[in-house]
Amino acid sequence: MRKAVLLHICCVIDAIPAVYTLRESGYMVWGYFHNSNIIPAEEYERRLYDVHRLAFDWDFPVLIPLYDPVSFLRNTRSLWREPEKGKRCEVCIYANLSATASMAELMGIPFFATTLTASRHKDLDIINRLGREAGSRYGVKYLESAFRKKGGQVLASRVAREKGFYRQNYCGCVYSLRERIMR
Ligand code: SF4
Repeated sequence: MRKAVLLHICCVIDAIPAVYTLRESGYMVWGYFHNSNIIPAEEYERRLYDVHRLAFDWDFPVLIPLYDPVSFLRNTRSLWREPEKGKRCEVCIYANLSATASMAELMGIPFFATTLTASRHKDLDIINRLGREAGSRYGVKYLESAFRKKGGQVLASRVAREKGFYRQNYCGCVYSLRERIMR
């Protein structure tokens, strides 16, 4: 029987190499779209819509927890001056990874991982460290990854082009949106 993994999915582009790689490694993937950092709600819906399209085409389930942007803003309010990859991003990433680990523990899924390591904008060491911390908090094994490597980004671009998937131009939160507007 294949091992199950609960995969935190941040967007469809990053989900492509992550789902592909995990399946190639023999895992049965369950998606988990926990992203209360994304704002506005229309953007959240837009990203989720294409994750559903991929899940339908590639035949894997996706769980959708409560979308709670207010709690994200409350947790990061004092960190609004932080640059990207700074303390605010650690709080954000840890919130999504610990929620995924907690859900995996509840569901009896022994492993969890995140699509965040498919992004070339992210720091792999930080993400994998936060994943290990979340895993040890909930007693679920975190699968360290670097989904952007070994052709992951090429695969993502090809599948996204073929299927006409949406490519966002900011990370997701109100702070990254502000930076994109001011650029
Ligand atoms: S820039 Fe990205 S990782 Fe950092 S807080 Fe915003 S949404 Fe989260």
